[in-house]
Amino acid sequence: MIDLHTHHQRCGHATGSLRDYVVEALEKGVKVLGLSDHTPMFASKEDHALPPVAMPKSEFPSYVAEALALKAEFENSIEILVSTEADYFHGRMDAYTEALGGYPLDYVIGSLHMFEGRDIFDVTRWEAVEENDLAAVKARYFRAVAACAQSRLFHVIGHVDALKGNYPNLDAVPAPAATDEMLLAIRNSGAVMEVNTSGGTKQCGGWYPNFDLLERAHHFQVPITFASDAHVPERICDQYPEVVRVLSDIGFKAWTVFRNQEAREYPLC
Ligand SMILES: [Zn+2]
Ligand SMILES: [Zn+2]
Repeated sequence: MIDLHTHHQRCGHATGSLRDYVVEALEKGVKVLGLSDHTPMFASKEDHALPPVAMPKSEFPSYVAEALALKAEFENSIEILVSTEADYFHGRMDAYTEALGGYPLDYVIGSLHMFEGRDIFDVTRWEAVEENDLAAVKARYFRAVAACAQSRLFHVIGHVDALKGNYPNLDAVPAPAATDEMLLAIRNSGAVMEVNTSGGTKQCGGWYPNFDLLERAHHFQVPITFASDAHVPERICDQYPEVVRVLSDIGFKAWTVFRNQEAREYPLC
């Protein structure tokens, strides 16, 4: 089992220490665990711009140091990868590139948490959206995720259809052209797409992305990796066996893991 996307208490909205996640992963028999807490708001002037969202900028060195120490301590029993999940802000990533450049990260996850000025899970966004505008909103969101991949700043593209998280109706709205653009942008960027099981913690349930998008991703040969996006240790590798079964049925054969920013594939099992 692998899991490349986990958080912990430093971000202000997850519970458990890094060690708690490592111990839980060991107990579950996980072979590769990615520690990937939210990147600080590097573009902000303040040290701790959004306490419930991400750790202070000044905390990032100790986060990486603690993760590296755990990697060394447990090297004979589990492989720990050191990462971070960065927000993607179109055209405003210089502070992130500069800040992250000095750390020996195995990979960086790029995710959209803000879209058109609001948190993607903010349900009030939908109050002003007409039914027949939904497809356009969804298409704009997928194109924003495509831009995230095209920035080539990331190794993994996070929860690609998470805009549906607290608006399940969006899931069935078709946006075929933008879907294909997004998937091709991910594939052509050299990044991989997460199969993220944290949809179950939101109103939509299920996974990011949904089954149809996974099938389309397979059609375009988009590489994939597993992500629980755990914010509590117990969610590590949540629904892993079900994901493997569904992906195998679709025809996927491999997970991709990034070690020292180099991609390596492992049989899907
Ligand atoms: Zn989080
Ligand atoms: Zn995220």
